[in-house]
Amino acid sequence: MRCLMCENLSLTHICKVCQASYLKPSLYRRKLSNGIEVLSFYKYQDIKELLHTKHTDLGFYIYSILAKNSFTQFINNFDFDEPLVSLAIDDNIESGYSHTAILNKSLQTRNIKPLFNCLRAQNRVSYSGKSKEFRLLNPRKFTLKNFKAEDVILVDDIITTGATLTQACEILQSKQKEIVFCLTLCDVANK
Ligand SMILES: [Zn+2]
Repeated sequence: MRCLMCENLSLTHICKVCQASYLKPSLYRRKLSNGIEVLSFYKYQDIKELLHTKHTDLGFYIYSILAKNSFTQFINNFDFDEPLVSLAIDDNIESGYSHTAILNKSLQTRNIKPLFNCLRAQNRVSYSGKSKEFRLLNPRKFTLKNFKAEDVILVDDIITTGATLTQACEILQSKQKEIVFCLTLCDVANK
């Protein structure tokens, strides 16, 4: 196949050279209105086209590559004393795979156990391009499946206003869960 970025022959959808030059993660930090920290790794502008593949067959491969370069690298350098679980926003399987489930799965390490299909949005309205007011007036209404662990990492691909993650935190906190931090690939606020 050919690399999506440079079009040279490659064994993966993005060649090793492009992964090293364009997908080297940075670490951006932002706080939600509830004080919980969100860590992200890329500027939205830099990976916008790659994120758009999530609605196509390519998305599975591209998200796996993005996850390996950012989430997996980050988590392997992190020491957790206590075992914890990670949950993804909207990881229902729609078109054969879930892009946030791929990100979540990439966190699997000795001390982190990704859980799938735990956090469900009952309101599936799209927030894309909508105002903050719209997002507040149309809450996601998350439901949470029971699980034992108390400490949680929350996972999503993009943070824009933070409304979705904030709402997910609320349901987790209402079940006495502790959110260690949230991880996203990119923060739209990073210019
Ligand atoms: Zn390339």
